[in-house]
Amino acid sequence: MAEMRALIDRLESQQMLSKEEFITLITGISIEDTEYLREKARKTAKRCFGNRIYTRGLIEFTNYCRNDCYYCGIRRSNTGACRYRLTKEAILDCCKTGYELGFRTFVLQGGEDAKYSDDIVVDIITGIKEKYPDCALTLSIGEKSYESYLKFYKAGADRYLLRHETANKDHYSKLHPPALSADNRKRCLYDLKKIGYQAGAGFMVGSPYQTVDYLAEDLLFLKELSPHMIGIGPFIPHHQTPFADRTPGTMEQTLLLLGILRLMFPKVLLPATTALGTIHPLGREKGILSGANVLMPNLSPTMVRKKYELYDNKICTGDEAAECRSCLGRKMQKIGYELAVDRGDYKP
Ligand code: SAH
Repeated sequence: MAEMRALIDRLESQQMLSKEEFITLITGISIEDTEYLREKARKTAKRCFGNRIYTRGLIEFTNYCRNDCYYCGIRRSNTGACRYRLTKEAILDCCKTGYELGFRTFVLQGGEDAKYSDDIVVDIITGIKEKYPDCALTLSIGEKSYESYLKFYKAGADRYLLRHETANKDHYSKLHPPALSADNRKRCLYDLKKIGYQAGAGFMVGSPYQTVDYLAEDLLFLKELSPHMIGIGPFIPHHQTPFADRTPGTMEQTLLLLGILRLMFPKVLLPATTALGTIHPLGREKGILSGANVLMPNLSPTMVRKKYELYDNKICTGDEAAECRSCLGRKMQKIGYELAVDRGDYKP
């Protein structure tokens, strides 16, 4: 107990531990010590961001995907998925609604859909940045070449989310078909940083075959990459995937890892994800209280929300965008935080 607290104190002061120490922390921490760690993480976030929570309007613009990730509900082989694409006009409509509601960051997320050629993506980016020059634009459209990433950046994209999923090659190959590799995923992340994007990595908590060793490797990889954003959330099975019968990740482990990440990266932009809100009704609130400082409510048209189903029982699929923002605003107020109307850039 005293030893565990000393470890937590050292994590706070050095913002790093050895792989063995991370393993000790993750496997051995008690409920009381987890609270001790979460409180430190919460205070760290408060020191850097006050009680202001940044919001990102998430626009899920296509659920077509050329990839076949074993965990993902919109994988190519899922013939049960009802596919859709949003036009540039529909995307701009989402931004309009979002802007009026107070969003100053839009996230375009989708499967890897070849129908959106680089030129089309550039045209969408240009359209959004022309109409909303005071907003940040984040892309989350998977693995591309350096040249494509550069084109999007020059067109005005500010940030890019690409979870590394797992830093361990063997684990990576158990979650993805042979066409995909941990090396290329990491290459993409380094390219994004080099180009100048605010870049986000991350992983699922409790994904199939994950071990504490692998989690420690994820933490070490993140330290080396030093991203501006880190997205983590529990793995949740999707009934039409090869992992349909797997055990989901837990809220407790996700909260612990959020706390560890906040102590490792005091200034990082760290969302309390929709997946965390899906496994527990108070998941996102608890995430904020473990040091998260970002929420990414859904701005996609209600008509398509249910179709962007990465995992089962995803929350907020029936709401209008306005309901989502005000509902989250109330939830945050209850725990002493407020939603900021702000781009919420990374500040070194
Ligand atoms: N195609 C884009 C966007 C992927 S979806 C890309 O490749 O980056 C965004 C994230 O959702 C993924 O990175 C993955 O970590 C997460 N995700 C996918 N399926 C999931 C599941 N079953 N449970 C929890 N998270 C999942």
